[in-house]
Amino acid sequence: MSKSESVFEMALEQLGDAAQRLNLNASTLRVLSHCERELTVALPVVMDDGRIEVFTGHRVQHSSARGPCKGGIRFHHDVSIDEVKALSMWMTWKCAVVNIPYGGAKGGITVDVTKLTKNEIRRLTRRYTVAMLPIIGSHSDIPAPDVNTSAETMGWIMDTVSMFRGSTVLDIVTGKSIELGGSLGRREATGRGVMFNALELLKRVDQAPSETSVSVQGFGNVGSVSADLLQKEGCRIVAVSDVSGAYYKEDGLPITDMIEYCKSSQNGLLDGFDAPGMTKISNTELLELDVDLLVPAALEKQITEKNADKIKAKFIVEGANGPVTPVAEKILLSKDKYVVPDILANSGGVVVSYFEWVQSIQSFFWDEDEVNRNLKRVIVNSFKSVWEMAEREKVDLRNAAMMIAVDRVARALDARGIFP
Ligand code: GLU
Repeated sequence: MSKSESVFEMALEQLGDAAQRLNLNASTLRVLSHCERELTVALPVVMDDGRIEVFTGHRVQHSSARGPCKGGIRFHHDVSIDEVKALSMWMTWKCAVVNIPYGGAKGGITVDVTKLTKNEIRRLTRRYTVAMLPIIGSHSDIPAPDVNTSAETMGWIMDTVSMFRGSTVLDIVTGKSIELGGSLGRREATGRGVMFNALELLKRVDQAPSETSVSVQGFGNVGSVSADLLQKEGCRIVAVSDVSGAYYKEDGLPITDMIEYCKSSQNGLLDGFDAPGMTKISNTELLELDVDLLVPAALEKQITEKNADKIKAKFIVEGANGPVTPVAEKILLSKDKYVVPDILANSGGVVVSYFEWVQSIQSFFWDEDEVNRNLKRVIVNSFKSVWEMAEREKVDLRNAAMMIAVDRVARALDARGIFP
C-alpha cells in the first residue's frame, strides 16, 4: 500500500501536527504513534448451502492510557488492518476530546454483507466474538456498532459472551437494543451529536438554521438521523445519498418519509424512493452542491485533493470518520471554510455508549430526556473548549480538537509511567 493510500498514515499525520504544536516530547509521540494491540483472525463460517467460507477479522486497541478501550465493529468489503488501526487511533482522540474515561479501539470484518444471509452474518458475528474473547471485556475493551452493524449485531455479541461466561453480561457491548439493556437515545446519538455540533458552529458564525441549506452524504444511522434532526431544527435538507445514488430537491427533501421507506426497502436503501420534484444526482454532484453545510456521513477519504477545490459548502461537519484527507483539508481551510473534525462531530455515539455502559454496570436506567440532556451538555462544552482553543492558538478546529485530545492522553501516560 502506498503512503497516500494508507488511512493510518493520515491519522499519524494528524497526530504529528498536534504533537508539534503541543511540543510533545519524542518518547510520548513514539508511544502514541503505535497501537497497543492488534489481533487478526481467520473466521470459518458454514454458509447456508453447506460450503465453508473463511473471512478475515481484526480488532485493534490503540491506547488504554485513559481507560478501557472503546470502539465499534464494522462489516465492510474494504476493511483492512490499516483502516482499523487508523479508526482505533481516532477513537482514542474522540474519547479524550469529549473527556469520557476510555481509550480507543476498533474492529472489523472484511465482508460484503449484501452477499450474506442474516443467518450467515449471525454465525460470522458469533465466530468473530469468540475469536476476540481473549482481548474484549467489560473493563478492557467494549465493542459497539459501526458501518453495517447494529443493535441486533450487538445482541448476538452480548449473547455469545454470556454463553461462554455462563451468566448474562450487559456491559460487554454498547449500542444494544433496549430489551437487552441498551440506552434510550443511543441509536440516534451520533446523528444528534452531529446536529448539536452543526448548531454550535452556526451560532458562532451568526447563521440561522432556517437560512441554512444542507447536503448529507450517507443515509445510514448517522446520515439519516443527522438529516432528520437538522431538518427539525429548521435547516433545508436539499440532498442525501446512499450507495444507490443521491437524491436532490431544492426546496427540501421529505426526510421522514425517506427514513420510513428505508425501514422496509431492500438492504435498507433509498433505491426506488420517489417524491414530487425530487431528482437523482450523482454522489460527486452531491458533494459539490452549492449548499451552506455539508455532512459527509459515509466512509473515509471522500474529500481529497481531487475534489477539495470544487466543494462549495462553507461548513463541513464530519459525520463519518476521516472523510476529509489532510491535503484536502488544507485546500478547504485556505478558502476560509470550517471543518468540524470527526473526533468531535461524530462523538455523540460514543458519549451515549458511555452512558449506556454506566447504566449497564449499575443496572439502573435513565429516561431519554436525561440521556439527551447529558449528551447536549457534553457536546456543547466540548465544542466550546475546541472553539476557544482554536481562537487562542490560532489553529483550525481539527488541530484544536487534536491538541486537547492528545494532551489529555499524554498527561495520562505521563501520570502512569511506562511499565515496568
Ligand atoms: N462506531 C462509533 C464511532 O466511530 C461508536 C463507537 C462506540 O460507541 O464505542 O464513534
